[in-house]
Amino acid sequence: MNKTGKFGPYSATGHALALPGPGAQSGAELVRSRIALHVALATVRPGDRLPDVGVLAEQLGIGEMTVRRALEGMCQDGLLDRRRGRTGGTFVSADWSHVAAAHHDAEGAASIAGFLLLLECGLVAHASGEVDDEQLAGLRKLAEDLDATADPDRLREVETRFHLDLAEALGGRGMREVTADLLGRLCLLRPAAEPDTIRRQNLCHVDLLVHLTEGATDAAVRAVKEHM
Ligand SMILES: [Zn+2]
Repeated sequence: MNKTGKFGPYSATGHALALPGPGAQSGAELVRSRIALHVALATVRPGDRLPDVGVLAEQLGIGEMTVRRALEGMCQDGLLDRRRGRTGGTFVSADWSHVAAAHHDAEGAASIAGFLLLLECGLVAHASGEVDDEQLAGLRKLAEDLDATADPDRLREVETRFHLDLAEALGGRGMREVTADLLGRLCLLRPAAEPDTIRRQNLCHVDLLVHLTEGATDAAVRAVKEHM
C-alpha cells in the first residue's frame, strides 16, 4: 500500500503507461508489479489475503476485468492462491519468494535497473540544492533505520521505501509512482539484494543525502551511480 494505505493511485492515461521502453506496462503487468512491490514493502505478506477485486481495481485505476485476469494469471503462476468458501479469497502464496524465483530474468532486470538509474540521476540533477528539508530529514531517518537493523526482510523493506521516498522528494508524487512501477517489476525479475549489499548501498544513500543538502550535483549523481 502507499501512504494512504492503497495500492494506487494510478491513472491509465497517466505517466506510467506513457513511458517508453522498459517503462511501458500493461494493466495486468501493473497488478503483478504492484503486488510484488507491496510484498517487498511488507505491507502485504506471504499468506495474506488480498483486497477484493473491486477494491484493487479502484485503487489502481484500472478495470475489474483486467484485475481479475491478472490475478488468475498470478494464481496459475503460483504467486497467488485462490481459496473458496466463507474464509476464501485470493491470497499471496505462502511460498512467494521461492515461486517468484522461477520468474527471474537477469536481462529484463538489467534493462529496468538501467532505466531506474537514469531516472534517479536525472531527478538528482533536477532537484539538487532544492530538496525540502523535511523530506531530506525523512530520508536520513530511513538511512539510519537501515544502519540499525540486521533483519534481512526489514533491510529490503526500508531499502525499497528509501527509493520511493527519494523519488517523491526529488520529483513529486508522479515520480514516486513511476519508481513504484519500476521497483515492483524488479522485485519479480531478480532476487532480493543480500543484506551486505544493502548495507554497502546505504553508504551511498548517506553520501547522496549529504551532497543533495549541499547542492553538490556532480557528487550526488556519482553517489547514485555507485549505489548501482
Ligand atoms: Zn538503495
